[in-house]
Amino acid sequence: MKKDSLEHVTIRINGLVQGVGFRPFVYRAAQKNNISGWVKNRSEGIFIEASGEMMNIDNFISDLKSKAPVAAQIENVLILPSIQAHKNGFQIILSDEYSGEKEITQIGPDIAVCANCLEDIRKQPHRLNYPFTNCTNCGPRFSIIRDLPYDRNKTTMDVFEMCPTCASEYENPTNRRFHAQPVACLNCGPNYMFISENVKTENFEEVLELTARYLTEGKIVAIKGIGGFFIACDALQEYSVQHLRKIKIREGKPFAIMFRDVETVTQYCAANQKEIDTLDSWRRPIVILRSKNLLPEGVSNGINTIGALLPYMPFHYLLFEKLKTAAIVFTSGNLKDEPIIIENNDAKEKLGLICDALVIYNRIIYNRSDDSVLQVVNNKPRIMRRSRGWAPNPVNLKFNSDGILATGAELKNTFCLGKGNQGILSQHIGDLKDFETFSFYEKSIVQFQKMFRVKPEIIVHDLHPDYLSTKYALSSGLSTFSVQHHHAHIASCMAEFGIDEQVIGVSFDGAGLGDDGNIWGSEFMVCDLDRYQLVTHFEYIPMPGGDLAAKEPWRMAVSWLYKVFGRDFLHFDLPFLEKIQDEKMEWLLNAINGNINCPLTSSCGRLFDAVSALLNLCTHSTFEAEAPMRLENIAAKNENRKYTYKQAGVIVFSEMFTEIVRDLQQKTGPETISAKFHNTISSIITEGVKKISKNTGLNKVVLSGGTFQNRYLLERTENNLLESGFNVFSNCSVPCNDGGISLGQLAIAAKRRNLNKISIN
Ligand code: ZN
Ligand code: ZN
Ligand code: FE
Repeated sequence: MKKDSLEHVTIRINGLVQGVGFRPFVYRAAQKNNISGWVKNRSEGIFIEASGEMMNIDNFISDLKSKAPVAAQIENVLILPSIQAHKNGFQIILSDEYSGEKEITQIGPDIAVCANCLEDIRKQPHRLNYPFTNCTNCGPRFSIIRDLPYDRNKTTMDVFEMCPTCASEYENPTNRRFHAQPVACLNCGPNYMFISENVKTENFEEVLELTARYLTEGKIVAIKGIGGFFIACDALQEYSVQHLRKIKIREGKPFAIMFRDVETVTQYCAANQKEIDTLDSWRRPIVILRSKNLLPEGVSNGINTIGALLPYMPFHYLLFEKLKTAAIVFTSGNLKDEPIIIENNDAKEKLGLICDALVIYNRIIYNRSDDSVLQVVNNKPRIMRRSRGWAPNPVNLKFNSDGILATGAELKNTFCLGKGNQGILSQHIGDLKDFETFSFYEKSIVQFQKMFRVKPEIIVHDLHPDYLSTKYALSSGLSTFSVQHHHAHIASCMAEFGIDEQVIGVSFDGAGLGDDGNIWGSEFMVCDLDRYQLVTHFEYIPMPGGDLAAKEPWRMAVSWLYKVFGRDFLHFDLPFLEKIQDEKMEWLLNAINGNINCPLTSSCGRLFDAVSALLNLCTHSTFEAEAPMRLENIAAKNENRKYTYKQAGVIVFSEMFTEIVRDLQQKTGPETISAKFHNTISSIITEGVKKISKNTGLNKVVLSGGTFQNRYLLERTENNLLESGFNVFSNCSVPCNDGGISLGQLAIAAKRRNLNKISIN
């Protein structure tokens, strides 16, 4: 071989390439293509030095790009000529410590146990039934990482010293556990413990037997998962399910169900291929499926969908082997609105009191993450809660967003940290009004800054001065500015799809403070990432009791009836009215008349509340968005009629309410009324968009806001708009609910800074 026939290159790969088995993959590709040189992890990405024949180098690079491990996401491959010549084979070089350079690669999300590892726990003597088995293609990542670069000593596995067998696997480039940071076995890794009033054992066989026995006996067991604790009971035992509702003080909200396998899922739920693929993907989220109504009533509580998920830890698989039941309730281990519990002692203190037993293990969860939730609408997975399996995957932005922190909304909070051209979206945080959740928020912001090495210079917050996220921003002492809530919703979707131009935005949700001080939630706007112009919205209506109206939908029903019929409605034959005491009713009407704690709202969520209460489906909510969910739940499928509305500057609903009341009096079924109402909202959107398009020539339509979690509405509206020739975008990989607000805020801030519209203090 002539010396100069060899080529030398430096390759730098960015993206999600750490903690997903990338270096072993590079090593194997190098072996295959006869490449000499090395690969190493640096905080800025994967670095490769490669020497080889030109054709081999080409094949090597092509393998790197096309055959990467399942959870890897390559964003950028930079190839430069190198003067460094390598011979004598290929090596993996240990990570450099943080070099002080600004750019950084990503932290991998947690990955469900892979099929090979499940096989290993059947046959590898040192891993027989070992529940912490993992490899470079699977296992915990985000939940155990303290810092970058991703190496064992930067994770909560640092306290477990590898045994010689694990060490030899870890060091062997041909082994699947080569540089698998959380590698462990029976001899050296973490272990489970079962604790109940009378029993305490660390013998894993007993832990499994006892857990299975307790569940079979109808008892309730708290089990430590990947990103936090979960509470489980047999989903087929009505008594257990009801009992769990009682102890969790969670009267209404449907429980998530873990099914034994895909086959069992399809026994209990209707699922199409896309839904099954999503359910069974390495991220293993909760997928909202249509129920076949074979589970006890208490599981979904009258809602005809099931939040289904499949086992994702070895423990889950091993447990199902011992269980007769094919379905267990799998709900987050927390109290009320508090964040999901991650610490063993916390679990003992809080869950120990309400559960019959605890199953814990001795590895620390560093980054909390709930199960992610999504649903498939129009054949696209739409994330509703973005946490395990996604966090902390960033979203690529069109602009540099470095040093910007977006603090998000208040309910379903996430925050978003700008790093280079990426928005690093936090895991689902929750309702900041809860004290524990707020500390989780503060702590996570600090953790993210440290992990991703960003020092914020600008903080973006919601317009609402009372949001705790706003207060957090304002108390930072940094440059801050506010973004209107509904503009942020639209921007979240624009950022997700890389849109940077003027669009028609339709932002429908429960509540967000508007520029005029009223509570918005049905905004039609023409906007780009910098500015927005409001075109129209629903007519304003008093929201008696302010925030309380969201918890008591009957208030909105009365507010509308009073507006449309005056006091006459008190004599209507409407069953929901019987639930309201006369005094309460008078008090409410007085409040409206006297404008006492009656902010004006155009919220679409509150309109759904009103109709839901009017149909007597939900007058008092037991969980967030219950009223709209119950309304959607019953909507007739083949109904195409709609109600009358007027577009008179704003969208006026008096005729619609007159017609709904008439339908009720004529004993029209609530299924029909619900469908007609949904069709009305869908028609308002389509017609509104057409009108704006006619005036502006715009063709791109962005739908966002929590209302679009409504499957019926999104399906219809999207299809109608597509049929009318529009280019329609709605959130998929980022929640359309307030979980997406922080990304929208960040995108707007980055754009404005790019236009030199904001400066640093
Ligand atoms: Zn594996
Ligand atoms: Zn070991
Ligand atoms: Fe919102």
